[in-house]
Amino acid sequence: MADLVLRAARIDDDIDPVDIAVTDGLISEIGPGLATTAPEDIDCAGRVVIPGLIESHVHLDKAFLDAERPATDGTLAGAIAITAELKRGFTVESIKDRARRVLDLAIMNGTTVIRAHPDVDPIVGLRGVHAVAELREEYRGMIDIQIVAFPQEGILRAPGTLALLREALRAGADVMGGCTYNERSVPDCRRHIDLVFELAAEFEVPVDMHADFADDASDPRFAMADYIAEATTRAGFGGRVTLGHMTSLAGRTREDRTATLARLSAAGVAVVPLPATDMHLGGRADTTNARRGIAPIRELWAAGITTAYSSNNIRNAFTPYGNADLLDIGLFLAQTSHLAGPADLTRVLAMATTEASRVIGIADSYGLRVGARADLVVLSATRVAQALLDRPDRCYVIKSGRMVARTTSTRQLLPAAHAVH
Ligand SMILES: [Zn+2]
Repeated sequence: MADLVLRAARIDDDIDPVDIAVTDGLISEIGPGLATTAPEDIDCAGRVVIPGLIESHVHLDKAFLDAERPATDGTLAGAIAITAELKRGFTVESIKDRARRVLDLAIMNGTTVIRAHPDVDPIVGLRGVHAVAELREEYRGMIDIQIVAFPQEGILRAPGTLALLREALRAGADVMGGCTYNERSVPDCRRHIDLVFELAAEFEVPVDMHADFADDASDPRFAMADYIAEATTRAGFGGRVTLGHMTSLAGRTREDRTATLARLSAAGVAVVPLPATDMHLGGRADTTNARRGIAPIRELWAAGITTAYSSNNIRNAFTPYGNADLLDIGLFLAQTSHLAGPADLTRVLAMATTEASRVIGIADSYGLRVGARADLVVLSATRVAQALLDRPDRCYVIKSGRMVARTTSTRQLLPAAHAVH
């Protein structure tokens, strides 16, 4: 006997619906018409079941700051400056209060794993890391949380940060972060990257950096991808390095960026576009034909680069939108990146599931397969390729075999509607 069985679950548009049995938090059987019984038996009736969604890049500590101070100029520099001021007033409790709102929404929207990037710098110290580490315990069994030690203010530019990063890694951060462009010169950006790799090697953790976040590469501090590819190979970190944003790639010539993408691919560097932020902050100086400002998704795919997408921020100066809903962001990415049709849309959905699991290093225990952790979401859609288009309900959200959220909604077209004019 299993603990839970999902009946008639659509997991692939090319095969008939299957049953999924869950035992001891893991998927124990998948197949048509399973004989296995379980105390919890759910008829999916052909609805789509996906593995739990993964937010591979989100700033829990800075969420919902728009209520305290709305964005002003809409630029990256402006967002960093406003947030730096607000950070001075952060307490562990105030961070947790805002972050809980994100976590609750994320769980209800089908997210089962989050990689959070709390700031670590002399302004906020380790309050962000401590707050997220406490939430990791509070939410255990509901959602898994990885912690990236993120030097938003730079490392060389903000003296004292290096020691704080080391403390953050000792205090439970799982990943070494970076903000490669927030230094004063290209040599400092390179030194920043070298320091990130040195600390990652010292603490034996993966690397996840914000990089090349500009409209184009005219300021060379925003064109560090090639140097990062080199540093990754030098450090033997292939498969353990992720870069967020990478928007300036789209502003380079095709020939130039194709060469850079080939280097990133060969070095084993993953890329995570953050479309809600990238579109909002990008193209601000363009007076005609404002650019889209998102890394070239189809070219990332073609280069064989592991590519996920994520929310980045929820309602602050960087991104004054968001409900911690990865299907919402996925549809937005498709709409803004010329991605359409069943093959593209299925791939976009995979960017928030299986590809994201590779980005954050949990692929071994993840997915719709026997032996994987039973993180599952039942959607109200009936075709995988239309899951983004349908904006479906997350009917059931299952974390490690346990139901953690449920959505029931009713829509009704009233018969009288046609008669009223
Ligand atoms: Zn970010």
